[in-house]
Amino acid sequence: MKQLWLLKIGEIALKGGNRSLFERQLKKNIRFQLKEHLISYTGQRGRFYAETDGLSEEETAKRLSTVFGLSGFAVCLKTEKTADAVIEAAAEIVRKHLEQTKTAAVTFKAESRRADKAFPLDSYRLNCLVGDALCGRFPQLKVDVRNPQLTVGIEIRDHAYVYGNGTEGPGGLPVGCAGRGVLLLSGGIDSPVAGWLCAKRGLKPEAVYFHTYPYTSGDSLEKVKTLAQILSPWTCGLNLFCVNFTEIQLKIKAEARPNRTTILSRSAMMEIATRLASERHAGALVTGEALSQVASQTVETLRVTGSHTDLPVLRPVIGFDKQEIIRIAEKIGTYGTSILPYDDCCTLFSPEHPEIAPDFGELKKEFDRLSLTPLIEQAAASAERIYFSPES
Ligand code: ATP
Ligand code: MG
Repeated sequence: MKQLWLLKIGEIALKGGNRSLFERQLKKNIRFQLKEHLISYTGQRGRFYAETDGLSEEETAKRLSTVFGLSGFAVCLKTEKTADAVIEAAAEIVRKHLEQTKTAAVTFKAESRRADKAFPLDSYRLNCLVGDALCGRFPQLKVDVRNPQLTVGIEIRDHAYVYGNGTEGPGGLPVGCAGRGVLLLSGGIDSPVAGWLCAKRGLKPEAVYFHTYPYTSGDSLEKVKTLAQILSPWTCGLNLFCVNFTEIQLKIKAEARPNRTTILSRSAMMEIATRLASERHAGALVTGEALSQVASQTVETLRVTGSHTDLPVLRPVIGFDKQEIIRIAEKIGTYGTSILPYDDCCTLFSPEHPEIAPDFGELKKEFDRLSLTPLIEQAAASAERIYFSPES
């Protein structure tokens, strides 16, 4: 069955000269989500209309709710530009709302926008006319212009468009408009949230996971794959690069001071991620580091890890406390997977008493002494790519 959807944009509407770039990316991402079910896409003045065919309303809403850049969307009726036609469409919207909510009494208001100034009624008069007509037809309705349960939206443009409450979108900016970034994705709570937050600002992540098979089990990899799958609708598909980190980790454990192993392996991860970024044309690295969360996330250690890349390191959860991160993880559906108890390479090899404020110069020297470059090159070159698409 065909449906027309009204799409509302958020921050894109504030853009100036390059607004069309953002709008084009949004259209591309909506097409990516709706695939062949999107049969037409038109737009005027910050409002876009997508016509779909063959998808249920529920499924379409589910897919649109992961498209960054949308502030909201609603199924919408397109009618002739006459007061009578608008009233009929508004009555249809009310009927559907009453059916879905099954409530005995509903407060509502009509909210018109008259983009076509040639339409004979101004917004106020159209609201009154539609409001009165609806109250006459549905005894369950009561007008409340301040805090209504149902808002019947009416837009007078090339046609009249009428819609109900609709659904809130995720906001942000369309994925892809801020280029690409390599996301260091561990199996923990923080890095999936970090990836999601960067995607919300338009960055398209390419994920990398470091495993120390056979010291870490295949289950750990499965966990990260599940996280990549959960993130994939938000990121318009997601590549996960799996890197064997075992030899590097063993060399560090054998040759470095025990209280420095975590920070040294993080440094090696940054170098591998930077190599991948260059291959994937990514302009940034993204991590789930939060200041003071653990020993490897102090200002001093962040300076060390940050010095192993020439790319900007985006750390979107740097100022969040754990509860705030968990709240987002729950919202996006990664939390349940992140807390599954499988070992990460860092937890297995981490020292009992890691250095909290390492001396920058000394650590750099210790890293150089390890001569990891050949192993780093080899690990980066043998990364295995797995692609996750939202529908798999
Ligand atoms: P997370 O919950 O994201 O695992 P964390 O609090 O456990 O974070 P750390 O283990 O100190 O923090 O890791 C800090 C960051 O380093 C992670 O957020 C992630 O970006 C990156 N990282 C750590 N381990 C790995 C790994 N095995 N593969 C990829 N990235 C990793
Ligand atoms: Mg971790």
